[in-house]
Amino acid sequence: MNPPLDIAPFTSWSGGKQPLVIAGPCSAETEDQVLQTVKRMVAASEGISMIRAGVWKPRTRPNSFEGVGAIGLPWVKAAGNAVGLPVTVEVANSGHVELALKNEIDVLWIGARTTVSPFIVQEIADALRGIDIPVMIKNPVNPDLQLWLGAIERFTQIGITKIAAIHRGFSTYEKSTYRNPPMWEIPIELRRRYPQIPIIVDPSHMGGTRDLIYPLSQQAMDMGFDGLMIETHINPDKAWSDAKQQVTPEVLGEILRELVVRQPHLEDNEFHTLHELRAKVDRIDDYIIEMLAERMGISEQIGQFKKDHDLAIHQSERWAAIVKRALANGKTGGLTEDFILKLFQQIHNESIIHQGKVMGK
Ligand code: PEP
Ligand code: MN
Repeated sequence: MNPPLDIAPFTSWSGGKQPLVIAGPCSAETEDQVLQTVKRMVAASEGISMIRAGVWKPRTRPNSFEGVGAIGLPWVKAAGNAVGLPVTVEVANSGHVELALKNEIDVLWIGARTTVSPFIVQEIADALRGIDIPVMIKNPVNPDLQLWLGAIERFTQIGITKIAAIHRGFSTYEKSTYRNPPMWEIPIELRRRYPQIPIIVDPSHMGGTRDLIYPLSQQAMDMGFDGLMIETHINPDKAWSDAKQQVTPEVLGEILRELVVRQPHLEDNEFHTLHELRAKVDRIDDYIIEMLAERMGISEQIGQFKKDHDLAIHQSERWAAIVKRALANGKTGGLTEDFILKLFQQIHNESIIHQGKVMGK
């Protein structure tokens, strides 16, 4: 069971707008670059609620630009003041926290490379004891919901009540269209466990290219997530970090105007149709589980047979044949290969557990 969380309403600290749009450069580079970006952003769109900029940049390899450091904090704060918006920066240790607070940064965010490390998350949380500041926690780079939940709980446990999660996708070894594939099932599961925590989607780090920002933002809205964090730069091609995934303030304005934000509440008659469709889905889900339970029962009988005849549980030719049939059937039904393979791997694992139960007796 998840511990109960004391969470302040999102709108009490996010500026009241929904979706919450956080925009600004990946990195603060110069005082003027931050100020011009922010002024142009606000001139080009109405929907911006918060300004972002990184001053300490966690870079994968050394000798790349690692941020301007603390000198950038007053630039970011001044740019926010110039347009009357709160500002947020990434903090990655307790020293950063101290400097950010000293410079009156309004909201802190925890980067994806920090969320993976419980020691550092705890160090940052301890530095915030007794301080009422909103904290946004990016998912860890690896697809591990427990680490994400753990980081969130470390902040709630020391008394932070203004919390949001930022979904920026997960790194994979496999080649992908995305820099960090979304794996939407993970934030969806986070929402199921902690429905009171707002989730902001970061299509810039997820997509890794400008072209993917709009479609990913729309997908995020269609799934009912609460906000967007979009990297914006006055001259994206010349940005000192993440050049490929930043848009100009004017393009940001276009993206936000194009977005269709769907109503969370429907009229009664529309709701009726949705209700019926959901009931159908529920029936199919029940049926799937019933069928799977029946399949596992048969696996146990097979296990008994293998035991009686002294056969190994896993027989690779049989497994290869199962996958082949499933992929062919899946293709006919318009299901992706990746889905079928993952589904059958899970079914196969469960089946081995059931066979093992019988064989171990
Ligand atoms: C960033 O927001 O610029 C950043 C470094 O993001 P992430 O921690 O998601 O990689
Ligand atoms: Mn970035």
